[in-house]
Amino acid sequence: MIGVYGGTFNPVHYGHLRTALEVKELFELEQLRLIPCRVPAHRDEPDVPAHLRLQMLEAAVADTHGFSVDRRELDRAGPSYMVDTLHSLRNEIGDTPLLLFIGADAFAGLERWHQWQRLFDYAHIVVMTRPGYAGSTLSAFLQQRIAEDRAQLSRQIAGLLTFQEVTALAISATAIRELVVAGRDPQFLLPDRVIELIRRHHLYQPLIHHTGN
Ligand code: ATP
Repeated sequence: MIGVYGGTFNPVHYGHLRTALEVKELFELEQLRLIPCRVPAHRDEPDVPAHLRLQMLEAAVADTHGFSVDRRELDRAGPSYMVDTLHSLRNEIGDTPLLLFIGADAFAGLERWHQWQRLFDYAHIVVMTRPGYAGSTLSAFLQQRIAEDRAQLSRQIAGLLTFQEVTALAISATAIRELVVAGRDPQFLLPDRVIELIRRHHLYQPLIHHTGN
């Protein structure tokens, strides 16, 4: 089975990486593809060019077996919809089961995603939950897709829905950017290699005027 884990990754941190590793092991994935998305042009924090988000992600997983970074959403012109991403992946991988991992927050808005029902034509969806997750009321469309067990996901290439509890680490990219802006040290929230890139490229530090190289 192949997994897809999408996000802004601005920057990638241990909340992403720990959950990614857990699901890779639990679902015995051959490969987990981390897919950075495009970001709306205007955000309230300084823009970070896509190639640097990509570089941070590549640095973070360079030594992790079975992880890869997939840049197709950055390379594609126009809006990047997950349904298009899964469609193009499906064309490449043939009949291998594909799992799309999304956080419970993102799942709450799933029915507003572009052509969301078609996601199930190409992949299963695994909702990553935190301990204590109360669940939500599911539409009939979703309810009928709930997998009986994990094994069913490997017997069918797409179309099922399941929930998987993962370790909750209270780390967010927003909080990391705020720390850096405030001149505080983000160490232990994200890999050192990513911190090095943040420093080298002066990311998230709009108020500091750099004078050196
Ligand atoms: P931001 O703070 O900028 O919104 P973020 O840290 O929430 O960013 P994203 O890159 O937007 O990260 O999220 C990508 C995916 O990672 C989502 O599915 C999200 O649910 C999940 N995720 C983010 N932070 C954590 C965390 N601490 N633990 C588990 N999953 C997380």
